[in-house]
Amino acid sequence: LTQLFRPLDMLGMVYRTIRQGLIDMAEMFRLIDTHVEVRDVAGAPALIAHQPSVVFDDVVFGYDRDRTILKGLSFEVPAGHHVAIVGPSGAGKSTIGRLLFRFYDPWSGRILIDGQDIAQVTQTSLRAILGIVPQDSVLFNESIGYNIGYGRDGASMADIQEAARGAALMGLIERLPAGLDTEVGERGLKLSGGEKQRVAIARTLVKNPRILLLDEATSALDTRTEQDILATLHTLAANRTSLSIAHRLSTIVDADSIIVLSEGRLAEQGSHAELLRYDGLYAEMWARQANEVQTDQAAQ
Ligand code: ATP
Repeated sequence: LTQLFRPLDMLGMVYRTIRQGLIDMAEMFRLIDTHVEVRDVAGAPALIAHQPSVVFDDVVFGYDRDRTILKGLSFEVPAGHHVAIVGPSGAGKSTIGRLLFRFYDPWSGRILIDGQDIAQVTQTSLRAILGIVPQDSVLFNESIGYNIGYGRDGASMADIQEAARGAALMGLIERLPAGLDTEVGERGLKLSGGEKQRVAIARTLVKNPRILLLDEATSALDTRTEQDILATLHTLAANRTSLSIAHRLSTIVDADSIIVLSEGRLAEQGSHAELLRYDGLYAEMWARQANEVQTDQAAQ
């Protein structure tokens, strides 16, 4: 009988691995937009992250040879710190995320995690320590428990429940007819944008990555949901090296450090208060967004 079960078990593992790959690809969709071949160097070792700091060291990169997007970008996210990247649309914020996941290699300069050049280690080991909470999450037509547990192969029911609690999903799950076994997705229960994002957070909690990339949702969530989600994200990012790509400044005022990217260069860096005092690009963006919020509120 074991002879029969072993191949079946293997098949199940292959199936799960493929699915995992597929959803990772789908989740990264916004980060990838084009497929580029990035290969492991021969005999590449695995990345070993004891203190997972992230360093961009004089990184130059563009998608096409005739247009440079990042023009010698250097910054550091010390292990356990939260750094946010802001800047005008098209400045290259999401590009930083794509390079960190090594969907592309820089033209020159290096990206280091705990002192190791990410181009010199295996991609599997690199992506194993990175987690992303994307703008839009993909849900399978499977149970909500499956959708959460899928963050890590071999996640137990206790892991799934803990992650669901961490992502403040238990209230919803307890109201569902079959709890964690309730089918969700296109053919199951439709979840709201905020609920889907919570599933993505729970999935990331199950994966428990050393480094977290938060690609801020631009999709409209109502202010209350957004505040709730932000609080949950803060729990996720606590004591973890994290990098936020932010569109709205209100979401990142608490970051340890904020990087203002302008035309592919680091224009300013500091805490929210420091950057306001500096009275430069960030202060200008802050004033503009505050104005927009007031106008929106007046219109409601
Ligand atoms: P936003 O705030 O609007 O999301 P961003 O700062 O995240 O912008 P990126 O997505 O990093 O900007 O894009 C930087 C520049 O690179 C943009 O001008 C964009 O058009 C260009 N770009 C992005 N992806 C590709 C690609 N796959 N091929 C060619 N150019 C690209």
